[in-house]
Order: sequence, then C-alpha cells, then structure tokens
Amino acid sequence: MEHKEEKKIKLPLAAKIFIALLLGILAGLALQSHADLAETYIRPFGTIFLNLLKFIVVPIVLFSIIDGVISMSDIRKVGVIGLRTVVYYLCTTAFAIVIGLAGGSVFSRFFPVLETSGLSFQETEGVPPMETLVNMFPSNIIQPMSEAIMLQVIVMAILIGFAIILAGEEAAPAAKGIHSFGVVFMKCMDIILRLSPVGVFCLICPVVASNGASILGSLAMVLLAAYVCYLVHMLVVYSAAVGLLGGMRPLDFLKGQLPAMIFAFSSASSVGTLPVNMKGCEKMGADPEISSFVLPLGATINMDGTAIYQGVCAIFIAACYGVRLTPGQMVTIVLTATLASIGTAGVPGAGVVMLAMVLQSVGLPVEGIALVAGVDRIFDMGRTVVNITGDASCAIVVSRQERLREQRKAAK
Ligand code: ASP
Repeated sequence: MEHKEEKKIKLPLAAKIFIALLLGILAGLALQSHADLAETYIRPFGTIFLNLLKFIVVPIVLFSIIDGVISMSDIRKVGVIGLRTVVYYLCTTAFAIVIGLAGGSVFSRFFPVLETSGLSFQETEGVPPMETLVNMFPSNIIQPMSEAIMLQVIVMAILIGFAIILAGEEAAPAAKGIHSFGVVFMKCMDIILRLSPVGVFCLICPVVASNGASILGSLAMVLLAAYVCYLVHMLVVYSAAVGLLGGMRPLDFLKGQLPAMIFAFSSASSVGTLPVNMKGCEKMGADPEISSFVLPLGATINMDGTAIYQGVCAIFIAACYGVRLTPGQMVTIVLTATLASIGTAGVPGAGVVMLAMVLQSVGLPVEGIALVAGVDRIFDMGRTVVNITGDASCAIVVSRQERLREQRKAAK
C-alpha cells in the first residue's frame, strides 16, 4: 500500500515536468512577438528555481561525499573505489570528446557558413594546468563553500571523511550528524524538485520567445550532430561498459535509467537529478554505499555530454569561421575538454563556460560562442542526460568490480 502511494507521487512529477516543457515551448512560440514580456515576467521565476538548485549543490555534494566515504569505513577501500571511479570517468570522457569531434567532422559539411562579424561574447580567462592542480586544494574552509568551488569542496569532503574514519569511536557523533544533515539537505532538494515543473516552464518559455523558431532552424544541423553523438555515446560506450564490466544487460540499464533521463532532460541539472539517479541505481542493483560516493562525485567531475557538446561546437564554430582544425588541435581539444569538464558543478548552462576554455586552447575566437549560446538550453538538456547516465553506468560498473574483488579476496 505504502509502496503504491510512493509511486503515485513520483511518476506524475516526471510527467509534469515533461508537460511543463512542452507547454513552455508552446507559450514561448505564442509570445514571440512579446519576447520582452517573457523575459521580464517569466524568466525571473526560472532564475529563482536555478538559484535554489545552485544553493543546494554545495551541501548535497559535501554531505553525500563525506557520508559516502565514511560508509565505506576503510580508507584502502575508498582509495580503490576512488581510483576506479576517476579512471572510469576520465576514460569515458575522453571517448565522449573523440565521438564529439568525429561526429562534428562528419556533419561539418552541412554546417551553414554564418555571418560571423559583429559577434561578441564575454571572454573568460584560461587557467594553466599546474594552477588547476594547486587550485584543487582549499586554503580556507568557508570560501570553497561560499563560492561553490566544487573541486575544493570534494577534496575537503574526502579529507573530512578520512579523518572521521581514522578518529574512530570518538568521531561517531560527527558521523551520525553528517548523515543526518545529508538526509535534511536531500529533503530540501526534494522540496526544490517539486517546483521543477514551474521552473522548467519559466526557463524554456523566454528562450523560445526570444530566439524564435528560426534560430532553431538555422542551428538544426549542429543540434542534430550533437544529439546523434549523445545517442552513439550512450548506446556504444555505456552499453559496452555496463555489459562487459558491469555484468548487466545494456537494455535493462537504459530502461532502468529512463526516469532519471527524463528528469535530467527537463531540469538540465546533474545535481538536481542526483536523488532520482541514486534511487534508479539502487533499483538496478548498484551498491548504495558506492553510488552515494560515485554519483555526487560524477555530478561534479564527470560530464561526457558536455565534452561531446564541446567537440561538436568547436568544429562548428571553426567551420563558421572557415577554419579547419588540425589533428594536433583536436588532441588539444580532447585534453582541454576532459580537464574542463572537471570542477564545474552540474547546473544548467555550466558547459558554455567550459566551451570558452576549449576554444581558447586552440586559438579559436571565443566570440564564436555567441553562435550557439542562443540554443544552449537545447544542447544542455541532451548533454545532462548523457552526464547522469555516465555517472550511473560508473556506479553499476564499480559496484560489480568491487563485488568481484571481495569475492577474490574471500576465495584466497
Ligand atoms: N547542465 C549540465 C549538467 O548539469 C552541465 C552543462 O552545462 O554542461 O550536467
């Protein structure tokens, strides 16, 4: 009876979000001639929803990672799982960006040559690799949280988690407290997520109203290229990974992942999708103590969809400027995009900032971003689906590998 009730509450939310998305697009089309109204009166509610999501990112990531580390109760185990997770994330991201570049190249002959004079975009500063390394380590306990510097938050969380394990009995109340705070913030997230139908409507409507159907048409090819690559990556790389390393039938995985995918598509936020993704992974047989570490980490550092988008957009922007990328430049893009996808929180629109870094690394004009920025939301919805599916595939693969390791240990 209870179970039935829970289902009743959950299913309609995903459906509501989807309906809100469609209604938002329709309302946007209807408001095209009054785009300023949509911008002035509808967008602010979307911004409130986004602000709430951003507000919840730090506590969710902080508490779930500390809790995840503590629940493994063995530093060596955390080390093994952490290493596997990071290697998996880096490898799949590298595959993603290669697929993005290949897909972009295949489609590039269809890319329109656009008028590129008079474009402007706020340039962001690139950071040298050694500085990125140094910047991972916080020098202050408040700043990483107040400025949402996610890599520093993660390092802090892992350190605190280790310390709690090492302190043993004396730290038991701290462990309990952290678990309890984790539950509280997950509840906050739950409340915020209930607002997502309104949020999604208010975000998509002004985008469609201001950009109109015409921009969708002229950018259709680059959008198509990105979505084909998203699909290929999920169907090939994740299916192979869960099939070969995760011991699960790829079709079962994709089916089990569907609710989280719908949620990610409509919210465009990996962090917002965390609770749905965690439940889904548990249902598919992932070890909860592993997914509570792997998924929040992935929501921050693993963004395969974003990497694909960067590959496709780099080629598209180069084509618009009449530039052909050399193999060397492509390798640079693979490296920069893989690094760029780490350290940015999974909230809507994060990928655009990273694209600026990628373009800079190969000397492409950053202003080119203006070409794709108008339809970023549409790219974003798809890339978030890929991002969270990558995280889930990792939870399945690492859970299974860990089970095998335990079995091997027991057999010795
Ligand atoms: N919205 C994406 C996510 O939450 C990040 C991005 O903008 O690419 O995963």
